Amino acid sequence: MSEYLLEVRNLHARVEDGEESILNGVDLVVRAGELHALMGPNGSGKSTLAKVIAGHPSYEVTAGDVLLNGENILEMEPDERSRAGVFLAFQYPAEIPGVSISNFLRTAVNARRSEEEGDVGVLDFQRQLTEKLKLLRVDPSFAGRHVNDGFSGGEKKRNEILQMAMIEPLMAVLDETDSGLDIDALRIVSDGVNTLRRERPEMGVLMITHYKRILGYLEPDHVHVMLGGKIVQSGGPELADQLEEMGYDWLSEPEPQPVA
Ligand code: ADP
Ligand code: MG
Repeated sequence: MSEYLLEVRNLHARVEDGEESILNGVDLVVRAGELHALMGPNGSGKSTLAKVIAGHPSYEVTAGDVLLNGENILEMEPDERSRAGVFLAFQYPAEIPGVSISNFLRTAVNARRSEEEGDVGVLDFQRQLTEKLKLLRVDPSFAGRHVNDGFSGGEKKRNEILQMAMIEPLMAVLDETDSGLDIDALRIVSDGVNTLRRERPEMGVLMITHYKRILGYLEPDHVHVMLGGKIVQSGGPELADQLEEMGYDWLSEPEPQPVA
């Protein structure tokens, strides 16, 4: 067992075939059970970091490492990373009209199972889904609705949290929209994350957020600020208060770097 659940070491990345580097040496370690908040202004590279950790094909890593429990995951396909325990909640979840949440979740659960394990049994799946709906206090009728089809912001978040509950990741990366998370959606995410952390205390969480508001409900162990594709400041929850008061201007951007 490695000391760290997630280790990001000197990570540099750019858009596939892009000219400019977006991540310029990110260092971040998360221990099992910790919740880290990643803040920073628009365009600082937060979503790119999340996508690179998950293995999004649009990005190319030019230097550095990402380890999960001491194992390098950069050579893994996105589905292998998911099987290894990485979960990414998208900032802009897709609408999939015609597919029920229940079917969507079953596909997600099956995609994570190895060939030897095979697909989850229908009854097992139902039992698990019922249990998670109850845990998260979600009305069972929700599972019959079509994925994100006409969903409110809060309902999209509820689907995301339910997916996270079903998949039981080791390391959850949650990328919150930089705007328009209403109070309802905020509570769904924070209550959901808190409930799932109590249920599975070993899970690590990286919460990406533009605003301090959600951190009032989540009590992060560590807060980081990203600027210009690099973490330029780390601290405890008091750092979020400081940012609220002083903005990001007092922190200096790293020098722009040519692509390695
Ligand atoms: P944040 O989530 O902190 O707002 P992003 O990671 O979305 O920042 O973006 C960081 C920078 O990288 C921005 O300048 C953005 O335009 C650029 N970028 C990110 N993804 C792409 C992409 N697929 N193609 C082109 N530019 C991108
Ligand atoms: Mg973003």
